[in-house]
This record gives sequence, structure tokens and C-alpha cells, in this order.
Amino acid sequence: MTAKTVLVSGASIAGPSAAFWLHRAGYRVTVVETAPALRPGGQAVDFRGEQVKLLDAMGVLGDVRRHETAMGDQTLLGLDARPLFTVPGAAWSGEVEILRGDLARILYEHTRDYTEYVFGDRVTSLTETADGVDVTFAHGSPRSFDLVVGADGVHSGVRAAAFGPERDFRRDLGFGIAGFTAPNHLGLDHTSVMYNEPGRGLTVGSHRLPDRLHVALVFAADGVEFRRRNADEQRALVTRLFADTGWETPKLLEALPAATDLYVDSISQIHLHRWSKGRVVLLGDAAWCAGPGGSGTGLAMMGAQVLAGELAAAGGDHATAFAKYEQRLRKPATVGQKNGKGSGNFLAPRTAAKIRSRNRAYRMLSTRVFGKVFTWMTDRAANAVEYREYPALTAA
Ligand SMILES: Cc1cc2nc3c(=O)[nH]c(=O)nc-3n(C[C@H](O)[C@H](O)[C@H](O)COP(=O)(O)OP(=O)(O)OC[C@H]3O[C@@H](n4cnc5c(N)ncnc54)[C@H](O)[C@@H]3O)c2cc1C
Repeated sequence: MTAKTVLVSGASIAGPSAAFWLHRAGYRVTVVETAPALRPGGQAVDFRGEQVKLLDAMGVLGDVRRHETAMGDQTLLGLDARPLFTVPGAAWSGEVEILRGDLARILYEHTRDYTEYVFGDRVTSLTETADGVDVTFAHGSPRSFDLVVGADGVHSGVRAAAFGPERDFRRDLGFGIAGFTAPNHLGLDHTSVMYNEPGRGLTVGSHRLPDRLHVALVFAADGVEFRRRNADEQRALVTRLFADTGWETPKLLEALPAATDLYVDSISQIHLHRWSKGRVVLLGDAAWCAGPGGSGTGLAMMGAQVLAGELAAAGGDHATAFAKYEQRLRKPATVGQKNGKGSGNFLAPRTAAKIRSRNRAYRMLSTRVFGKVFTWMTDRAANAVEYREYPALTAA
């Protein structure tokens, strides 16, 4: 019997994770990614509890640990750019923390031997037939697959083709996010610093690569248009928005022209009533993007395992499997969206008064008792989906 085929759109976190588990479920997987190569960049993502079990089950935990940030304390600066207090790294970094770009590369390397990866292309139309989905691409020839998985993020092409335009599902939270690396002129060593001015927040840290700084910018962005900007326009946008910002900002911005890993987007959420339509199913940010602080990476990876597990358990009956997959993931995704909703206001409060009150709340994290409460809360969110073995997924 020939193996069933799946097209997965997106090669970041959800896509390669889906390739891993769908291969275990016996599918032949093709991943199409619009970018010409794997995309570097993005901030650190952390794993705890059940999610660490998942990394272990995928056989990637060793590689993830070899690339962990081992991030230490974060110092919060006041409005005058002087240190206010320090928050222990453990509050944010979980059991193991890794850069998104490193994780995407590890997942790709673990799956490329048995997955057909196609870079520089994208789905342009999906037509469901009696026994599959006919797919057209921007560049490649038309093909048919048994199933299609949209793991292509907030701006999912699969979602647009199967469910309708992005504007029907995307809720902007009024902030933008940008990230890039710069030379470590601050001499930070496994530590980070956070600085705010009204409506602008910078978090700057250094970890595995001692000569590099990871710069994360969050900014109030009402009315800012993020889509259809090329890299130069993105650089210009970030430079304009942070032009008159104090502290070390001018020096950090000097690195922008040479940055090849710049990532800029709105902080948005995706809300859909259903994550599947016929033979097409959405996974990760394409289905339930929560924004920073919403456990998006861990949930996307867990979702991939549940999706493949349910397909295997249902003997390939996709309607049953997609319904069960959604049943298990819907609540944790909603919790993630609740947690992610306030991320912009926390990272870039809009007024000096709001920065001060955020600082007061944040300072509590530096105390033992509140630090423990915070860790308990983040652990609970990370463990919202229990790692369950599906017997049909154990043998490749
Ligand atoms: C370069 C990059 C940097 C990021 N940095 C941050 C960050 O700093 N903070 C944060 O909170 N989140 C960030 N994210 C988002 C974060 O990775 C996700 O929230 C989370 O890991 C879930 O991943 P995902 O695979 O579902 O979606 P994503 O990580 O967004 O991946 C979607 C993938 O699909 C590709 N794609 C998009 N459209 C199409 C299409 N039409 N056809 C084919 N492929 C397509 C994208 O290029 C990307 O590789 C970043 C994502 C990327 C791609």
C-alpha cells in the first residue's frame, strides 16, 4: 500500500514538528516554505515539564540542551536608565531555553532525511476532491495530497486559501515586535537588561555567543502597517519608531543595516471557530496565535504530536482525528491567548505612569515568594497539554 501524503505549509516550528510526527504516523510529508531558506532570528523560547517530555520523545532534547541559552538575571532600568532591580533568570527561562532560530534548525535537521522540503514556494489554491486536495503553487507544478496542514503562522497562506482572508481572523493587539542581533558592546554575559520609554520597550541580552547581543523591541503600533514591507522598509520603520529613544538605543540601531536576522511583525492573535475544513487543518500560530507569552512554540509542537497521534489512532479518518485534535488543544490555546493578550502592555507600557506601575508589579518577581508564584503560573501554562504517548507513533 502506498503511504498517504501530507503537504505541510511553513518550515519554522509547527511545520517541521508536524513532519516529524506525521512521518511516525506513516505519512509521506512535503513541507513548503515561502522563504528561500530556513529563517533565522526570533527571541528565546523556553520549555517546562510536559513540553520537556515531548522534546525527549522526539529525540531532540540533547541538541536543544547543547544550544540552551542558560540565561541568567535580568536587570530592569528605570526611566532615567539606571538599574532598579534584578529578576532571576529562572523566572523566564524555564527548564531549558533556546533561540527560536536554533530550534527551527534542529527540527529541520532531525526531519530532512525523510521529508521533502521545498523552499521559496507557497500554496496559491486548494481544491478538495473526493479523495484528496489539489494544490497549486506560486512556482512549482500543481500536485495532489491526501491532507494539507497549514503551519504557516499568523499570515498563513493555507488559512487564506481554505478559510478566507486574514482580516477575518487576525486581531491586532496595538503593538509591534522586532528582533535582531547586534555586536555585544555592553559586555553582557548570560544576562539581559530591559529599558522602557512610553510605548517603547527594549530587552537586550547575551548568552551563547559572547560577542552578540539579542535585541528585542516592543512598541505601541496603532495604525502601523506591517505587511508588504521588504527588509529595508522594515529597518526604516524600526529606526523611525525608536529614533529619539534614549539609553543605548542609538548604538543598538547602528547594527540594523547589517542585521540579516531582522524580524518585524505586529503583535496579533488569530481566532477561528474551527481549525479544520475537510482535509485541511491548521496548526500553531496559523490556528491560534497568542502573541508573546502565550506558550506559542511549546503548544505548536504539542499540537503536532496530538494531530499525528489522532490521525494514527483514527486509522487515517481525518474528520474524526481533526475533531479530537481540536478538542485537546482548544482550551490550552485559549489560555495561551489570555496570557498573551497583555504582553504588549507589559513589555511596552504606553505612559510613564504605566511603566512605573508595571515596574512595581515586576519587582515582586524578584522576591522569593512572588517569584515562586510566577514560576508556578508559567509552569502550569506550559503543562496545559499533557504529553501522552500514542502507541501508533512509537515505531517509525
Ligand atoms: C523569523 C521568525 C522570528 C520570530 N520571532 C518571534 C519573537 O521574537 N517573538 C515571538 O513571540 N514570536 C516570534 N516568532 C513566532 C514564533 O516562532 C511562533 O509564535 C511559534 O513558534 C509558533 O510557530 P509556528 O511554526 O506556528 O509559526 P511561525 O514561527 O510564525 O512560522 C511560520 C512559518 O511559515 C512561513 N510562511 C508564512 N507564510 C507562508 C506561506 N504562505 N507559505 C509557506 N510558508 C509560509 C514563515 O516564513 C515561517 O517560516 C517568530 C517567527 C519567525 C518565523
